[in-house]
Amino acid sequence: MRTRFAPSPTGYMHLGNLRSALFGYLLARKMGGTFVLRIEDTDQGRLVVDAMDKIYETLHTVGITYDEGPDVGGGYGPYVQSERKSNYIEYAKELVAKGAAYYCFCDKARLEGLEDYDRHCYNLAADEVEKMLDDGIPYVIRQLIPQGQTTFADEVFGEITVENEELEDQVLIKSDGMPTYNFANVVDDHLMAITHVMRGSEYLTSTPKYNLLYQALGWEIPTYVHLPLILSANGGKLSKRHGDAFFEDFLDKGFLPEAIVNYVILLGWSPPDNREIYSLKELEQIFSAEAISKSPSTFDISKLRWVNGEYLKAMDFDKFYGLAENHLIDAIKKPDADRVALAKMVQSRIATLGEISEALDFIDNLPQYSTELYIHKKSKCDETIAKDVLAKIAPELAKIDKNNWNNQYLYKFMTDFAEVNELKNSQVLWPLRTALSGKPATPGGASDLLAILGRQESITRIETALAKL
Ligand code: GLU
Repeated sequence: MRTRFAPSPTGYMHLGNLRSALFGYLLARKMGGTFVLRIEDTDQGRLVVDAMDKIYETLHTVGITYDEGPDVGGGYGPYVQSERKSNYIEYAKELVAKGAAYYCFCDKARLEGLEDYDRHCYNLAADEVEKMLDDGIPYVIRQLIPQGQTTFADEVFGEITVENEELEDQVLIKSDGMPTYNFANVVDDHLMAITHVMRGSEYLTSTPKYNLLYQALGWEIPTYVHLPLILSANGGKLSKRHGDAFFEDFLDKGFLPEAIVNYVILLGWSPPDNREIYSLKELEQIFSAEAISKSPSTFDISKLRWVNGEYLKAMDFDKFYGLAENHLIDAIKKPDADRVALAKMVQSRIATLGEISEALDFIDNLPQYSTELYIHKKSKCDETIAKDVLAKIAPELAKIDKNNWNNQYLYKFMTDFAEVNELKNSQVLWPLRTALSGKPATPGGASDLLAILGRQESITRIETALAKL
């Protein structure tokens, strides 16, 4: 088994491309095969500076390694099509000799007047062609689409038949001597002995043209595995404008690479059991092409957030702290803030690192809030109960020894207080959490907040509450 990832360096890494890379990589690993990276850069007009670096960087970040390539002094680089230019022309000439392609001398002005190419140059006599070539007239080489139908099999989409008249005599070699993407792709899949071609289903329509080339050259057709579309939540394409198209968009929003990878793999592939969290290493053992679905998958940001939250929760605390520290520094300006305690409090309660600042926006300053926040049915709490509890507990809290001012002690203290006063725990915890944060939801309960804010600040906030109630 040999698979490949064949990106064109035209910008950032689209999630669909990342998925093609991952699936090709995983299939090769699962089957003990070879995974090849091939940069398809023959369309020089579309090249984007740095796009190549982006590709390497992304693959490195997500942990995809490739297995072979040309020697670049001490290691191997990927295959780069523009460096292999001389390989393609001879095959195009072979196709001409076999009657499956022809020279075309039409200039831009002529072509612009046509809707579809009219095969004008196919009708040139052999000696005319000879003469024009000798005269150095610029030309392209076009594929001659024969009459009839083309049928091909795809592992995911099944058997597909197209009428050849729907296919165009596409250009194989451009006037600058470079192959088109479509031609170089076929030649290289053959030369690199690729057995399984995995790519987005937008290439299904080009596949018949590729097969005609394989047939004309007498080459073995690879197994095709086209991957379902990824739609955005509104049913359209993922787009740059919505910020949901590129791997980098999600990194910028504070998602972890391993969570993005895990989520992207679930787009169109169903795991063998009900679990949804898998490391790349685990996937290398269990991935299978049979479990790829052909129906489009819809990108669901809330699912990605959930996956990301699972990765944050499971992360070793030191690693989490390393990632969270800058966000904490941005979020909390108080000089005496205990960032480690804050990080411990938020680790299991945020979906992304980007949420840290909002989750902790009440630490530096108590926000304005309405006393309606004290009304909470489930906790059997209202403003009157809140006022009584806070008035009674404040002097008790003030008496607690500084050495005992920690989460565990404070939690026990509050539940004991509830018992002695014949209250439910929630009737003590809810008012306190509200008074300390001024928010309906916080990353941590009353004891976490008391411990983090410290005795003095906690009491000040409770007094503020009492003045309001
Ligand atoms: N260069 C194409 C792309 O970037 C590759 C398509 C294929 O995998 O065959 O989408």
